Amino acid sequence: MKAIRVHEFGGPEVLKLEYVHDLRAGAGQVVVRVAAAGVNPYDTYMRQGTYAIKPPLPYTPGSDAAGTVESMGEGVEGLAAGDRVYVGGTLSGAYAEQTLAEAWQVHPLPPSVSFDQGAALNVPYATAYRALLQIGRALPGETVLIHGASGGVGVAGVQWARAAGMKVIGTGGTERGREMVAAQGAHHVLDHRAPDYLDQLMKLTGGRGVDVILEMLANVNLAKDLTVLATKGRVVVIGNRGNIEINPRDIMRRDAAVLGFTLWGASRQELDSIHAALVAGLENGSLRPVVGKELPLAEAAQAHRTVMEPGAHGKIVLVA
Ligand code: NAP
Repeated sequence: MKAIRVHEFGGPEVLKLEYVHDLRAGAGQVVVRVAAAGVNPYDTYMRQGTYAIKPPLPYTPGSDAAGTVESMGEGVEGLAAGDRVYVGGTLSGAYAEQTLAEAWQVHPLPPSVSFDQGAALNVPYATAYRALLQIGRALPGETVLIHGASGGVGVAGVQWARAAGMKVIGTGGTERGREMVAAQGAHHVLDHRAPDYLDQLMKLTGGRGVDVILEMLANVNLAKDLTVLATKGRVVVIGNRGNIEINPRDIMRRDAAVLGFTLWGASRQELDSIHAALVAGLENGSLRPVVGKELPLAEAAQAHRTVMEPGAHGKIVLVA
């Protein structure tokens, strides 16, 4: 089968399309025939060799994919060859024609959800759910700022928050991105490049501020976030690409909290809970992944360049 392989850490050019042996499922494992794989920013940090998790070389990147069950090892129950599924993590990498996963990482993909959309699920939707509900403990009726709502995690955050009955304010850096955020159900959409957008935010909340912020670029925004939080507000740091100076008094005077996490820290029980909510949201139509760009598997390097550029518009997926 064809797979993208990385033999050395480095720029996008280290992503090479190669022929490798077909995969075989061991006990409790499943081989999925991949129709589409999701591209996440962390795939690029890992390829660069700068991420907290450094895989042994060579490796196949990617943790998100959708396709059909091809074969199963001993002891796998509740799945059959040909079932439409998405994976929440893999053992062998997702940028390939086949991927190997533990049975518990394989989840049903309802017929109304395309394979491209299925590839957009795992990291973005699990991250947004964990940030909003498990870490930020946002409640129905609260106001949530999704600071960077036009990308993979942001779109998922808008949909989870709307489904849970929160008031949602999203931001995007381009007209196209903001239109999409509005179409996904945000009550208000602001331009995070406009000089006065936080004044607009305060006006939208009647001067009260927001209860929860899902922050995609903390090194740029954290200090400002702390000034637009309501009393007992929570900033959940999802993305960060550098250092920032903050005034801790902004936290103290609001009884506020700054929280951070990585999805890799979630327990098996928490992940099971996330994916149960995810499958239910797909079935009832409240979750509708937005795919902004589809590229062939062979163009993984281009996908890695694009995912790091501004002007996000939903997810980038690779099709096998
Ligand atoms: P993405 O699809 O590339 O989207 C990036 C988002 O950040 C876009 O909405 C972009 O908006 C926005 N952005 C750019 N400049 C911004 C600014 N100044 N203020 C606010 N937002 C800004 O990436 P993603 O998959 O959504 O991931 C978002 C971040 O979370 C990445 O840094 C990623 O590494 C991180 N992440 C962390 C975890 C975790 O476990 N903690 C898990 C998944 C992702 P425009 O392009 O419209 O300007």
